[in-house]
Amino acid sequence: MADYLSESDPGTRILRRCDELAAISRPGTGVTRLYLTGEHRAAMELVSRWMREAGMTVHTDHAANVIGRYPPAAGGRNGSLLLGSHIDSVIDAGKYDGPLGVIAAIDCIAVLNGEGRRLPFGIEILAFGDEEGTRFGTTLIGSRAVAGTLTPQDLAIRDKDNISVETALRTFGLDPNALASAARSPGDVLAYVELHIEQGPVLEGEDLPVGVVTAINAQTRKVVTLKSEANHAGTVPMRLRHDPFLAAAEIALALEKTASGIPDAVGTVGQVDVRPGASNVIPGSVTMSLDMRARTDALLRRLTAAMDGEIERIAQARGVGLEVEPMLETKAAPCSPGLIGQLDRAIGGSGIKPLHLPSGAGHDGMAMNALGPIAMLFVRCKGGVSHSPLESVTAGDVTIAANVLRDFIIGFDPEKS
Ligand SMILES: [Zn+2]
Repeated sequence: MADYLSESDPGTRILRRCDELAAISRPGTGVTRLYLTGEHRAAMELVSRWMREAGMTVHTDHAANVIGRYPPAAGGRNGSLLLGSHIDSVIDAGKYDGPLGVIAAIDCIAVLNGEGRRLPFGIEILAFGDEEGTRFGTTLIGSRAVAGTLTPQDLAIRDKDNISVETALRTFGLDPNALASAARSPGDVLAYVELHIEQGPVLEGEDLPVGVVTAINAQTRKVVTLKSEANHAGTVPMRLRHDPFLAAAEIALALEKTASGIPDAVGTVGQVDVRPGASNVIPGSVTMSLDMRARTDALLRRLTAAMDGEIERIAQARGVGLEVEPMLETKAAPCSPGLIGQLDRAIGGSGIKPLHLPSGAGHDGMAMNALGPIAMLFVRCKGGVSHSPLESVTAGDVTIAANVLRDFIIGFDPEKS
């Protein structure tokens, strides 16, 4: 125990453990730690050890989530405050996306336990096995198992080696038929609160170490295909062309303009495939991705409805064929105003201005929202960079964030969340 708190400031302790966890990776640049792999198992063992050293009892569920429990004071209420994040990664990831939230939460418990302090409610820390969806292409397997929203179809999804989630669970020594036992009941969950790097540039721009998330944005992804006849780049006069790439370009610009006109909405064209793809041929078809996100479902509907109209109009005006394929649709997960207020107070108590911002990236809270109120505390990261070995946070910011999280935990009032 004394060992756990051997360095005096939380930031130094937490970052040293982030380094230690990051060393558990597939060889290569940065961190690559995928769900239900040898690296995942080693990470689970290390996190379990830390949880025990911090004074928690530890178990693993049938979705390969690690769960540490810190019991309430005698006569404490039923239900737990859940904290945590994920310990899987993308390919060539940084050290902090996910692990920072798990390790900072464990550190808070280590401090409470070191002071012999119990609270009138139990605390559990969850280290989710899959949030990123890197291995199976479907995200949040860990937290959806806890929320009880995994479906049999999810278990049938296969990785690139044709191994299903179900088979991978079995090979890992788990029982897919017992997955339901990982699900928690809403009555059991007082709240779910996650500390995470911001993955964006807002806090850095505001010169603030931490911020409070208002909502995890709703998201829609579509694939738009525009079709015409490929033709000779030299012989067809401009006025007689039906160039699908120009339609795609116009759609991309319409997305920029439309998203810019809606508060906190963003729109991105990240993939464009031009066929046949020769410098001397007018394209015959273009496939493009549209990623659209907004703070609320209603704002996202405004964006997607406007874009549906624009896409239709542009394709028609340019005389190109049109196909639109929906790929993904997730609802916004609003953070609880009560929890936001409690985080604001903890931040204000550190003499820092509480800034509110939406989360443009998905998080485990999207699944945990099914169980109870959620909240997130964002930590400034250098240049807003994530999903890269260049991910960087400072020990000073992490100390502030861990102190805020601990103050929040100590003052947590389930009646006002
Ligand atoms: Zn993450």
